[in-house]
Amino acid sequence: MNIHEYQGKEVLRQYGVAVPNGKVAFTVEEAVEAAKELGTDVCVVKAQIHAGGRGKAGGVKVAKNLEEVRTYAEEILGKTLVTHQTGPEGKEVKRLLIEEGCDIQKEYYVGLVLDRATSRVTLMASEEGGTEIEEVAEATPEKIFKEEIDPVVGLTAFQARRIAFNINIPTKLVNQAVKFMMGLYQAYVEKDCSIAEINPLVVTGDGKVMALDAKLNFDSNALYRRKDILEMRDLEEEDTKEIEASKYDLSYIALDGNIGCMVNGAGLAMSTMDIIKHYGGDPANFLDVGGGATAEKVTEAFKIILSDENVKGIFVNIFGGIMKCDVIATGVVEAAKQVGLEVPLVVRLEGTNVDLGKKILAESDVEIVAADSMADGAQKIVSLVG
Ligand code: ADP
Ligand code: MG
Repeated sequence: MNIHEYQGKEVLRQYGVAVPNGKVAFTVEEAVEAAKELGTDVCVVKAQIHAGGRGKAGGVKVAKNLEEVRTYAEEILGKTLVTHQTGPEGKEVKRLLIEEGCDIQKEYYVGLVLDRATSRVTLMASEEGGTEIEEVAEATPEKIFKEEIDPVVGLTAFQARRIAFNINIPTKLVNQAVKFMMGLYQAYVEKDCSIAEINPLVVTGDGKVMALDAKLNFDSNALYRRKDILEMRDLEEEDTKEIEASKYDLSYIALDGNIGCMVNGAGLAMSTMDIIKHYGGDPANFLDVGGGATAEKVTEAFKIILSDENVKGIFVNIFGGIMKCDVIATGVVEAAKQVGLEVPLVVRLEGTNVDLGKKILAESDVEIVAADSMADGAQKIVSLVG
């Protein structure tokens, strides 16, 4: 789960990580009011969306007085920002962060991420801050420094110091930078983050080390024990189909293709997407209905798939283990009737109660193309979708 920059900064503040003073604003009036309260000479008006690259897209503006705050707030609020992370459709700005302007001397990059290859949280840093870290990794990989963190010991001060020296933090400020990284690590662990990225971390004219941007992502599987984080969720930033799916405990991820997939088990879902691709098609989603799905859950899954207007056909690929094929078949027939299915539907069933399942499908008055194997089903749906 993602949160906004201003929320990320609130979390970091609790851990002693220095961030500029700022306030969230939902309207132009609130923005001007916030700037008045801050009382600084220079304010920054920042679009709050769940995507980076806002600066380049015109979503971060420096205002030198209240009139400019008003002008920029009017300009940015309600605007659809298109950044390299939003996709071509962009994201509408509904919140602003009004923040005190910082006298930036230099921008750095600091991030914590779980490295799946080593199973360790890894601290990454570079003196090439402000730009995208992917570009730095591509062009000048030697400018990225890493520290693997032992989960038992945690981030040690000497590791943080080594990073600070490697990225050339001014010697006088190394201790501040160390405190910053230690706080960031503590926040990462205690709040169950999956990513904590500060780009840029800055050194200011008056000798401070601060986070000017904050991107925190959280492990969704840990949210049950992080109620404070869950409260920060902004549903308007998420895909409506994915929200609907999470209500029914379905793992659903929207994709760009036109073949809707309904599968049980994440591994089978991945291989179903692969085989659709293999035969020249494009999956419209990843959907795992899980092991213990009921007919009701299958019906909801169907509705979610069909609410995607790109879907031109559906491939149901089920292996009945814990989940029985007749339950799936009943769910499919029920759902097809309820939603008034208008696109081709290919079903491949295998496993427990498969004969009963096939019988239910054959005897229903829903038009279903039966498939004998995964490959057969994939080929059929690809050719039906055209
Ligand atoms: P994004 O990564 O989405 O472009 P950032 O928050 O990193 O957004 O802001 C982009 C740039 O704007 C920063 O690299 C920094 O140069 C400048 N900036 C952001 N916040 C402030 C601030 N409070 N004071 C001064 N400059 C800022
Ligand atoms: Mg940034």
